[in-house]
Amino acid sequence: MGGKQLLNDKILIVEDEPDILNLVSYHLGQSGFSVVLAEDGEQALSAVEQDAIGLVILDLMLPGISGLEVCRLLKQSPRTKDIPVLMLTARAEEVDRIVGLELGADDYLVKPFSPRELVLRIRAILRRIHRRDETETAQLVAGPLSIDLVGCQVQLGSEPIELTATEFKLLTTLAQRRGRVQSREELLEVVWGYEYLGYRRTVDTHIRRLREKLGTAAEMVETVRGMGYRFRREDR
Ligand code: CA
Repeated sequence: MGGKQLLNDKILIVEDEPDILNLVSYHLGQSGFSVVLAEDGEQALSAVEQDAIGLVILDLMLPGISGLEVCRLLKQSPRTKDIPVLMLTARAEEVDRIVGLELGADDYLVKPFSPRELVLRIRAILRRIHRRDETETAQLVAGPLSIDLVGCQVQLGSEPIELTATEFKLLTTLAQRRGRVQSREELLEVVWGYEYLGYRRTVDTHIRRLREKLGTAAEMVETVRGMGYRFRREDR
């Protein structure tokens, strides 16, 4: 699934030399990436406005706005600052500027580079980003509850709540689909892995115990009569 995600990322290549533009775009295409091309900084900035770009390959020496300036502008704007930038430079001496200026470029390659190396670097950056996103979403805050999805711990305010593995799974299943009603059958299937309907009461029993343990946060788990359960959407 991670692999598919990577392949869906659109890569913007900003380069005024047609040979390099063609070479890079060919190899990225072969590697399954979709590619957007820009020949100068202005085109690059408008491409980022118009398209959901997953990563920018940015040549340092461009006509008009320089690559450094484009990078600075991208990293300045809240909307584009998280788009990773891989800089291309013709001169090894420029590397100091790229890194030293703390423009926020995520990586760089010195020309001439092998397209294979470029693809490896891109994959590495995207993997890193993907991992970072996972860590960020590992903490689920829902009303007064904070749920650590990695450490499997729940806190009400600053107080830890002791839950069984099943109760934890039940709580996270509800909280991750916040505001959506989930039937007992759905919950059985996701939490217990059952595909039959014989033990719908199992869900009710566990919900009751879960609510007891949640204390003042019990009302976050709502019963929707005749339908199932729902984790409250708003924090009231
Ligand atoms: Ca150039």
